[in-house]
Amino acid sequence: MWVVPEAEIAGLMTPEAAFDAVEAVFAAMASGEAYNFPVVREAIGHEDALYGFKGGFDKSALNLGLKAGGYWPNNQKRDLINHQSTVFLFDPDTGRVSAAVGGNLLTALRTAAASAVSIKHLAPEEARVLGMIGAGHQSAFQMRAAARVGQFERVIGWNPHPEMLIRLADTAAEIGLPFEAVELPRLGAEADVIISITSAFEPLLMDGHVKGRTHIAAMGTDTRGKQELDPALVARARLFTDEIAQSLSIGEFQHASAAGNISNSDVTAIGRVITGDHEGRGDAEITIFDGTGVGLQDLAVAGAVVELARQQGKAVKVEI
Ligand code: NAD
Repeated sequence: MWVVPEAEIAGLMTPEAAFDAVEAVFAAMASGEAYNFPVVREAIGHEDALYGFKGGFDKSALNLGLKAGGYWPNNQKRDLINHQSTVFLFDPDTGRVSAAVGGNLLTALRTAAASAVSIKHLAPEEARVLGMIGAGHQSAFQMRAAARVGQFERVIGWNPHPEMLIRLADTAAEIGLPFEAVELPRLGAEADVIISITSAFEPLLMDGHVKGRTHIAAMGTDTRGKQELDPALVARARLFTDEIAQSLSIGEFQHASAAGNISNSDVTAIGRVITGDHEGRGDAEITIFDGTGVGLQDLAVAGAVVELARQQGKAVKVEI
């Protein structure tokens, strides 16, 4: 098997390669070539950790495997990041393990790639203002990936903890875009594309905040109980997601679904827009992409990084 250490990922994987891998696997999911296995997520009763598996099989790319990992809230005391994960790939012809890949940076890249894919396919053509809600670890990756696909002229941002906004200012400066911290009503009124990436358990962006043609990538809600958007905003938007079942159970649309306001048929898998099977934005004023994070995204970027690592002599061969 090949081992690609976490420390090598930054030198191997680019946002461009992550974007291509994630766009391709969303299309494969829509055409039935790829499917995700049921997610396992457990509070293990030790170190307050949440641990689980996200896996799947993509017949078109021949990626089979899983991401194992989760959230260890006490890791910061040990100088480790709280989210820890490793991707394991298996040979679909034999079942033998083929690779173990550090999953921490890949998770940020594949999550940012998902919202960028949604921006490419769903944002209004005239979008020039990017609004960021959230200023944690993921937010910088999100902004960089969005800037690659959109023609943004400025970035505005808000975060529940204002002291963290410096991350958004620094990232915008790195990209070469002006940044301004604003309150949510201004963010909703001025931004043409909004990315929300927080750990919120109550709605932050309200229906009354959002004005005009807008695309929202709701990326923070990946667990039961989390929520970033006002259900009334969800109710008046055209809805897209990575995987419908996951969106309605643990994603942003879980709340509208539980309230009986939306059902499966109201949500479109973004893969159908990528393959040309669905018109996408059409005449909708507001589109929302609920990025819940699926195992196939992890396998797609891990498969790509193993190829790059082998080509560049950075993969370590281990007999098992
Ligand atoms: P982080 O801990 O670095 O940052 C947390 C962010 O949420 C900050 O903006 C913080 O101000 C805000 N926040 C914290 N507590 C809050 C609360 N109670 N109410 C509202 N906001 C709060 O986390 P991160 O790594 O940037 O991840 C952000 C979110 O994205 C998390 O919820 C994480 O689970 C989720 N995530 C989703 C995917 C996916 O595929 N959809 C992938 C990775 C992370």
